[in-house]
Amino acid sequence: MAALPLPALHANHGGCWLRDRCNEHGGGATRGVGKGEAIMAAADTPLLLLNAPLVATRLGYPDLSGLDLLELFAFVHPARFVVPTPKGLARALDLPEPEGDDAVPALLQAAAGALLETCESPGWAEREGAWSALQSLTRLRWPWAGPLAPRIAQPERAERWLFSKLPEWDEAPERPQPAQVALDNDAVLDRLAALTGAGAEQRPGQRAYAAETAHVFAPRRREAAPHVLLAQAGTGIGKTLGYLAPASVWAERSGGTVWVSTFTKALQRQLRRESRRAWPAARADGSPPVVVRKGRENYLCLLNLEDALQGGFGGRAAILAQLVARWAAYTQDGDMIGGDLPGWLGTLFRQRGIASLTDRRGECVYAGCPHYRKCFIERAARSSAQADLVIANHALVMVNAARAGAGGGRDHAARPTRLIFDEGHHVFEAADSTFAAALTGAETIELRRWVLGPERGSKGRRRGLAARLADISSYDEQGAKAIAAAAHAAEALTGAGWLQRLGESAPSGPLEELLAAVRALVYARDESGGQEAGYGLETEAAQLDGAFIERAQAAQAALAGLRQPLIRLGLRLEALLAEPPDWLDGAGRARIEGARHSLAWRIDLLAAWEALLERLGGAADPEFVDWLAVERSDAREFDVGLHRRWLDPMKPFARVVLEPAHGVMLTSATLKDGHGRDDRDWDTAVDRSGAPHISVAPRLAAFDSPFDYAAQAEVLIVTDVPKGDIPALAAAYARLIEAAGGGALGLFTAIRRLRAVYARIADKLARAGLPLFAQHVDPIDTGTLVDIFRDDPRASLLGTDALRDGVDVPGHSLRLVVMEQVPWPKPSILHRARRLAALRHAQGERSGSAYDDRIIRARLAQAFGRLIRSSGDRGHFVVLSSAFPSRLLAAFPPGTPVHRLTLDEALQRVARGASEDAVPTDNFFAKPAST
Ligand code: SF4
Repeated sequence: MAALPLPALHANHGGCWLRDRCNEHGGGATRGVGKGEAIMAAADTPLLLLNAPLVATRLGYPDLSGLDLLELFAFVHPARFVVPTPKGLARALDLPEPEGDDAVPALLQAAAGALLETCESPGWAEREGAWSALQSLTRLRWPWAGPLAPRIAQPERAERWLFSKLPEWDEAPERPQPAQVALDNDAVLDRLAALTGAGAEQRPGQRAYAAETAHVFAPRRREAAPHVLLAQAGTGIGKTLGYLAPASVWAERSGGTVWVSTFTKALQRQLRRESRRAWPAARADGSPPVVVRKGRENYLCLLNLEDALQGGFGGRAAILAQLVARWAAYTQDGDMIGGDLPGWLGTLFRQRGIASLTDRRGECVYAGCPHYRKCFIERAARSSAQADLVIANHALVMVNAARAGAGGGRDHAARPTRLIFDEGHHVFEAADSTFAAALTGAETIELRRWVLGPERGSKGRRRGLAARLADISSYDEQGAKAIAAAAHAAEALTGAGWLQRLGESAPSGPLEELLAAVRALVYARDESGGQEAGYGLETEAAQLDGAFIERAQAAQAALAGLRQPLIRLGLRLEALLAEPPDWLDGAGRARIEGARHSLAWRIDLLAAWEALLERLGGAADPEFVDWLAVERSDAREFDVGLHRRWLDPMKPFARVVLEPAHGVMLTSATLKDGHGRDDRDWDTAVDRSGAPHISVAPRLAAFDSPFDYAAQAEVLIVTDVPKGDIPALAAAYARLIEAAGGGALGLFTAIRRLRAVYARIADKLARAGLPLFAQHVDPIDTGTLVDIFRDDPRASLLGTDALRDGVDVPGHSLRLVVMEQVPWPKPSILHRARRLAALRHAQGERSGSAYDDRIIRARLAQAFGRLIRSSGDRGHFVVLSSAFPSRLLAAFPPGTPVHRLTLDEALQRVARGASEDAVPTDNFFAKPAST
């Protein structure tokens, strides 16, 4: 294999390494260089790089460009997984892994050579479409087009265009309702044994868990009263196969569909993997028995892609569109967020390109779309109606249920009746955001654009209502009047430049005037301390004066003025469908069908906003918590508005999700409070299941983890790192990571502190051969950060909430978790209201701190759960807190040793643990980088 003879650059926190132009046998010299020289070299001549935005960040030179190996990989092997690190690339291409940083530039040359050589090989699996894509990429001056051009031969027959190549989905008859079956224990346990495999060790906890889960599938006894099971399964029980066993038996015998809903993408991926033990990839008729179902905004919209390929995207974004089109031809299901599109692809292009290729704004024209029969979203919806198992997420399940309940759902099969909520401790949070209302500048300008189309000068296919329903506007008088009235009314919504006008006290129209009043009041009243820190600000929606109420009323009237013509238009569309006039052809009918659904959704949204404004100044509704907020990031405002949450979001959840269901399980390793046998430990979990709202008493079951926590883990509470002392905090992190030899997950409650710590320690650790990555700092998506962390036992990762329970890294790569402090809940207005309600509800509790304690214990338990993922794992869980209340210790599994000690003592324990559990010496980063 010939290396590509171009110079190559590798840079990280430990230094920069530049390799000159090599000969084709790879000969050439690599030398350590300073950042200045590296930047000069990159400006002089195109260099081979791996992950250009990351290298640019390391060099502090944002304009860096070159030949990025990741872009080439995405072209040559679309939809193929690679960890975007030198080691990951080497492994993906079957090349020897580099032995140190100074060997990386040579690897980049070899990898480029290998990828280019692949394009010449007759066995290249992803050849189809490459030549055509390359012609477009050449026109776009993609840096790789030159090296690729001589390697990709023009095919003898013209390649089919992506949009004609993708397969069409088939309409299938509706599935009959499921048969009523009761599952017998033997069948469930036999299935479990089959799934775990012959010779697998028998796990009594898992068997008991599977048997318990079977109850959820029993026939329902009365209407609106599903079987509800709350099952806490300690880590290591094997709960995924534990519930897939009864679920697969039930699906097989009843002919029905089971939905498993997760909160994190990591678990979704794991479920997809594990479900292969229970179901084949395809049935005899070719249909998939297992389907992953996500919200529309996750999938590629082919119409948006077509528009982007035909000039809607310019510059680098146009190159991204070509690479996405390559992927679209090979993807399993068109899922762009967490599916087989590499998470790093979007971040290479520094634009919101990926999001604009999805149907994020709900502008789908459904059957009016030329790609409707090939659409990934429609395919997923149809497949899930026929599936035995649908893997979804909490938000999607709730949104679909709410829309189906309101009669606005077009996706009838989307309302599950047998539901397993894994990561069940997140159901409350998901319900909280699903059933929320937010009347903000960002939301209202979206609605304005949906009605009127984008402002002049913006690119893309987005059009307003009148253009989307052009035939109605032209041929139907009543419809045309309603569209014109809606367009007129939409002028009252916030328009482009609203945020600036608010800042200049020059709002335009009733909505902006209201938002200006909101902003002024928030600045006048906020006492959260966020003003100095640059965070968001808020104040409760109370004691509002007459002038404010007048503005709210004017805004409410403006919203009603828009809702009315939209309702009239909806009725007119229904009438036209019922009695189609001559001018309405098939495509027009399809467009109307699509428009009706998106209209219903907007009408509901407007009604919710009006209800929010209606109540301002009146008596407080005890069901809701309302507040006004200015959203800010690093002191820059990005949204202003009014917010409404249910005091108990499980109330609407119970109505729209539980009540129509037949069997629902909520399961998690951290469902109840603590690990004791006290029934009161279940109180919060029962309340947070929603079951009491439909008068159902859930079954409760807990299964202890089989892990030996006394031998596998230690909790270290470090008492001598002063709170608020960033240099001391950073030093503690650096020393702990050094003592452990990497493999640390650092969890923060504030992004500001995370960044400050990272900035102080990343270089120092890199020089010791301990790479450090961080959410909110590195230009890499969270999923890819976790992949990188998992892949390198010397790497450490800093992050915030999403990493507290979205990380499943069994084995040696994660052996230390460090929390910067006790994870107190943010004292927001919403939190205060719920805390007060909890106090009223549980008269036995003397203070709201019991409510806070439960939240903190749950967070500690989730974070601790990252540490020990398998029976061979060992590690330390460190909390840097001089005052850690003993009552929080119930968060940790019984038997886990807990020590309160100084940082020095903690370092000794961590170092001892690391030496007993030494890192394999052949590790890539084991040897310090040579400069
Ligand atoms: S049907 Fe809708 S989502 Fe699908 S490709 Fe067409 S416009 Fe996009």
